[in-house]
Amino acid sequence: MVLHLVADLENFDEALAREHYLNSSGQKDELESSKVFKQFKHLFSKEHVTEAGKDIATREGKLLYDAFIGNFIGNELKRVTDKANSYEASAFVEVSGQQIPFRQVSTLVMNEDIREKRKMLYEATKPVKKKLTAFEKKSWGKVYELIKELSGKSYVDYLSFAKEVNYDKLAEQLRDFLTGTENIHKDQLEKNMASIGVRLKDARPYDYAYYARAKSFDVFFQKEKLLEVAKKFWNDIGIDFGNQKNVILDVEERPKKVPRAFCMPVKVPSEVILVIKPHGGQEDYQAFFHESGHTEHFANTEASLSYQLRCLGANSVSEAYAFLIEYLLSNTTFLQKYVGMPAEDANKFANFIMEQKLQAFRRYAVKVIYELKLHRNDLAKLDDKFMPTAETYSSFAKMYADLLTKATKINYTPENYLLDVDSGLYAADYVRAWLFEVMLRKKLEEKFGKEWFSNKETGKFLKTLWKWGNAGKSIEELAQITGYTGLDIKYLTEDFLQFFK
Ligand SMILES: [Zn+2]
Repeated sequence: MVLHLVADLENFDEALAREHYLNSSGQKDELESSKVFKQFKHLFSKEHVTEAGKDIATREGKLLYDAFIGNFIGNELKRVTDKANSYEASAFVEVSGQQIPFRQVSTLVMNEDIREKRKMLYEATKPVKKKLTAFEKKSWGKVYELIKELSGKSYVDYLSFAKEVNYDKLAEQLRDFLTGTENIHKDQLEKNMASIGVRLKDARPYDYAYYARAKSFDVFFQKEKLLEVAKKFWNDIGIDFGNQKNVILDVEERPKKVPRAFCMPVKVPSEVILVIKPHGGQEDYQAFFHESGHTEHFANTEASLSYQLRCLGANSVSEAYAFLIEYLLSNTTFLQKYVGMPAEDANKFANFIMEQKLQAFRRYAVKVIYELKLHRNDLAKLDDKFMPTAETYSSFAKMYADLLTKATKINYTPENYLLDVDSGLYAADYVRAWLFEVMLRKKLEEKFGKEWFSNKETGKFLKTLWKWGNAGKSIEELAQITGYTGLDIKYLTEDFLQFFK
């Protein structure tokens, strides 16, 4: 039995989360996860994996088995992970004789009005990306090997078993979605790119990043107002945001704090940290809203649930709650009431968010299709409808560029083919979260009215869902609890079609 190790596993998780928090919040220069792994080295033995594998009939048993496998692999990879992180954190790129920290480039790109300069910045990152890709290649090789050795399964089969997701069925639905919304998306993107003076056939990811920065809306998204807006809305929903004793709002200015807001559930539910470095702009608000959704989910998880159900399992459940809050920014009533936008601007902005959501969903949909092929070593070429052909791609990098370009209509280049891959097919967790977010929102509207986000009853209801933690109920079970038969893409598709009709 491995149950006697559960308390230590939780302590290990906590220590690792704290290490990441200190590093990303700018309080500790080096990420030293290796040290944390060393401190808990008794947890990472093959014997524990084998023992845990004997008890996978229950959800908790299976989650524990998956945790032992994940931690065993994490321990094997700890040196390369830390090395890659240190390299990335200290890497510089050279642009016209100037040295710029690699991690600042994406912020510079999205704020750069001159297209040539955006391009220069992007091109300058290539040598750093090449080196990071080498780290990734090494890691993935090791991951495939270890999964096979520990579980006897291929990477995708293992994830399908551990996360209980039928990826092929999901990919089929995503393929239909991609073809079904293709024309709407193409028209939107053509118009979006024209608004920044770029022809669709020339559009690059750095152009879309600049477009999505949406400077014209900055006046409504001041950094000084961010917390105030969030507090007002959370209070209306029945959450005393900013005064919860188990939630720490880290708003301190530190030079090395990462610019994007993030939530670190150090101890669920007793210590959840929401980190923010407000800089204003719509994407700052969007990120903060998203992360505050995670925060309330973890902070309202039932403390008496087992560690396995509170903390382990796929993150699709938590991502769905995060999306629910994030996409309040596509609600015109919300925008007028809380962000203070006049009706006309609220309509424009809601449209902007929904178009951006469609772009993001299509990107993640094709990432699922691409990553499945990558992990399966399948180079069969796909046609414009994402159906296999008799031809093959000459490399995974070429496959990446082709598939991402087909789905997003933005010209992707090959160099990110491994850097743009999330471990554990996380892209599928996001996709599933997007499906449930719409379903949950519809239910909230039905139960508490169009202004469900201003109703204290909503908070009460959400708490009855949040209490189940990350894995107490699966996303399919949560769909059933809220009155559906299961997770279904049709609600998301309808939501888009209705909005854009
Ligand atoms: Zn998230």
